[in-house]
Amino acid sequence: MNQKTDLKNLTLPALEQFLQGQGKERFRALQVFKWIYQQDAQGFDEMTNISKALRAELTESAFISNLEPEAIEEGGDGTRKYLFTLGDGHAVESVLIPIEGRNTLCISSQVGCAMACEFCLTGSFKLTRNLTTSEIVNQIMAVKRDLVRNPPAVFSEGGSCLVNNDDSEDGEGENMGSPAAIRNIVLMGMGEPLHNLDNVIPAIQIMIDGNGLQLSNRRVTVSTCGLVPEMARLGREIPNVNLAVSLNATTDELRDRIMPVNRSYPIKALLQACREFPLPGRRKVTFEYVMMGGVNDSLEDAKRLLRLISDIPNKVNLIPFNEHEGCDFKAPTKAAIDAFHTYLIDRHVTVITRDSRGGDISAACGQLKGKLEKNIND
Ligand code: SAH
Repeated sequence: MNQKTDLKNLTLPALEQFLQGQGKERFRALQVFKWIYQQDAQGFDEMTNISKALRAELTESAFISNLEPEAIEEGGDGTRKYLFTLGDGHAVESVLIPIEGRNTLCISSQVGCAMACEFCLTGSFKLTRNLTTSEIVNQIMAVKRDLVRNPPAVFSEGGSCLVNNDDSEDGEGENMGSPAAIRNIVLMGMGEPLHNLDNVIPAIQIMIDGNGLQLSNRRVTVSTCGLVPEMARLGREIPNVNLAVSLNATTDELRDRIMPVNRSYPIKALLQACREFPLPGRRKVTFEYVMMGGVNDSLEDAKRLLRLISDIPNKVNLIPFNEHEGCDFKAPTKAAIDAFHTYLIDRHVTVITRDSRGGDISAACGQLKGKLEKNIND
């Protein structure tokens, strides 16, 4: 068994502790951390400002893990889906969504998912295991490498599909992003991030560390189906991260049925947790609402939705249901989407209806499956 420590599982303070435990000076941790995240060092030999003796010692006690995509698929709209096979043979996917030179990366937090939402493909596979911190940050690092090798063409049609692509709030609106940089991270891939907080929190700390992946905390969004106690913990431990909540229903009756988590934390408790979540300044909770034809797409639903969220700083993401095999829900009609969208807009709600990016490569919301499904359906 490999007893060596994977340094990509450690935040900077944890790395300091690890090295101090080996009698090393504190500043060594910063050097090593920067090599890993800013230089993408794959091994200790690359760390040329560290003595050979220390490098040899580190090689004995630690290693730097890595992920390389096993497959990359690119859709007609520039969306890229990355398949990663993990050390134990399980697989997860990440999705890169480039819009006007601004890249959003959607990453996975678990292999499978325990939440069993009725409409979600990942949910139908049950939970296999949590991703480690290193497996979460390595998705980002692998995609960064791919972007440098192969920057996406700049698509200018300006799809309006993203959580958190709302640049009007930060004064950087006019700047084009760099096609080779990742601007936003959303934990909206496979898994329920709040069901794996022990590994997700250090991963976010590494993402937003100025010596680490150097992402702004306002560009990291955690999406949850509504694990109320964990929402409070996330808020306590990383108060400035963006919160997205998959609401998807406006009555407990329906939500109990399509999202079993609601039986433990019903809508009222969920909304209270949203009110208590420490969002700085003018930031808003994103409410995701997967519209399913004939299920939750009526004007009555739109009215109830507005009533539920109106006293919380909010924006709404309408996601037309993406159909997948083995699931009877249907996409809503365009008329239903338009009516729902218009009802909210007319009442001054910020609404984004996601176009289905990545649909042609099964990279759209709720379609990620790793390699699991192949074994079942092929
Ligand atoms: N577990 C987290 C993050 C993963 S799901 C969460 O529930 O928020 C990311 C989003 O995709 C959620 O809003 C979910 O409701 C939505 N989703 C799941 N299956 C979908 C499907 N088939 N079509 C459209 N959206 C889907």
